[in-house]
Amino acid sequence: MSTEKESIYREIGIRKSVLDFGNQIEAGLKERFRAIDETAEYNQLKVIRAMQENRVSEACFQYASGYGYDDLGRDTLEKVYASVFHTEDALVRPQITCGTHALSLALAANLRPGDELLSPVGKPYDTLEEVIGIRPSNGSLAEYGITYSQVDLLPDGSFDYDNIKKAIHDKTKLITIQRSKGYQTRPSFSVSQIGELISFVKRIKPDVIVMVDNCYGEFVETIEPSDLGADLVVGSLIKNPGGGLAPIGGYIAGRKDLIENCSYRLTSPGLGKEVGASLGIMQSFYQGLFLAPTVTASALKGAIFAANIYEKLQFPVIPDGQEDRHDIIQAVTFGKPEGVIAFCKGIQAAAPVDSYVTPEPWAMPGYDSDVIMAAGAFVQGSSIELSADGPIKPPYAVYFQGGLTWPHAKLGILMSLEYLVRDGIVTL
Ligand SMILES: *Cc1c(COP(=O)(O)O)cnc(C)c1O
Repeated sequence: MSTEKESIYREIGIRKSVLDFGNQIEAGLKERFRAIDETAEYNQLKVIRAMQENRVSEACFQYASGYGYDDLGRDTLEKVYASVFHTEDALVRPQITCGTHALSLALAANLRPGDELLSPVGKPYDTLEEVIGIRPSNGSLAEYGITYSQVDLLPDGSFDYDNIKKAIHDKTKLITIQRSKGYQTRPSFSVSQIGELISFVKRIKPDVIVMVDNCYGEFVETIEPSDLGADLVVGSLIKNPGGGLAPIGGYIAGRKDLIENCSYRLTSPGLGKEVGASLGIMQSFYQGLFLAPTVTASALKGAIFAANIYEKLQFPVIPDGQEDRHDIIQAVTFGKPEGVIAFCKGIQAAAPVDSYVTPEPWAMPGYDSDVIMAAGAFVQGSSIELSADGPIKPPYAVYFQGGLTWPHAKLGILMSLEYLVRDGIVTL
């Protein structure tokens, strides 16, 4: 068996020294991986119980078109999400096109002219800058007279409680907390850290709405921000909760009245959740959610494996090889463009789809430098599938995430190392 495994690794392009190095790192991660499997086991049971409680049946997978009144699959799925996140209600639909759309919807639905939105955790994810109007944009919240204020994190990455307290006043209607660092250098927050922040702001203003941008965080821990007081949790189905199978979609789970507002904004006042046919894709939403706990576990193992590989080779990694994980993103700094390029070429070469394509840096709209991206995904743009990207500018860091299965995540990282060895950037 082990020689068969070695020979298929060789056929696929991994030299023996790279495989041996990887196996040696993997052998040191048994305890970490066991803990991740424990979390996945718990979350798997949580999802199954939610499906059982809400009587998911084959009828839920049927095609529904037109207005979509009484769409059983859609209505039941929303109940399942509410059960998983322990919330009163949820909105989970293919009509929510992505994570940014879900976040924009939740904000626009629950803020009114004259209200203020506060981010107590620094700058939000890039795409939200235009939603909020931090960067002037047509249709932003700012255009509707909704103001924004922000309290940056302290230099050590912790919450600036003094200034958060000062920033909350009678116009503060909604507080947004981003769980994952996204592509910033700050730490990602644990659910319990988020819970502390929620308790703090609710003590100051009990009726303030707290929304958590949960992207990349779902199923990484056994609890979600909605278990510790978040009124709304929001995310994308082409990340963790879609389990790699959902081809589109976003979710918002939370308090009933707030979800109702979201439904009026998504469809129309008066119509709300009643319309919006699920168009035959419900099976992928259910099955994706069913797989999401183990898929997230695979992605986490990949991130930890990579951190330990590249840390051992003296490259700066964030988070480091030992740290607890609060999301699935891993950053590795190579310090020169050739490292970023070789890494991305390796990830691409290990993909099940488009493995023969060679990624090249290019000038992507919205970025101030060339960017190289590697993705051989079944669902275009899906970042729960193994993918990597790196801006070609100092410090020449690559960000990568995903991996629907642990063996694929392992292969991708070994292949990235293989390319770095081939290009003479790493010597084993
Ligand atoms: C990905 C992401 C988003 C936006 O989701 P899209 O599906 O890309 O629109 C928002 N916030 C965070 C933290 C994310 O990681």
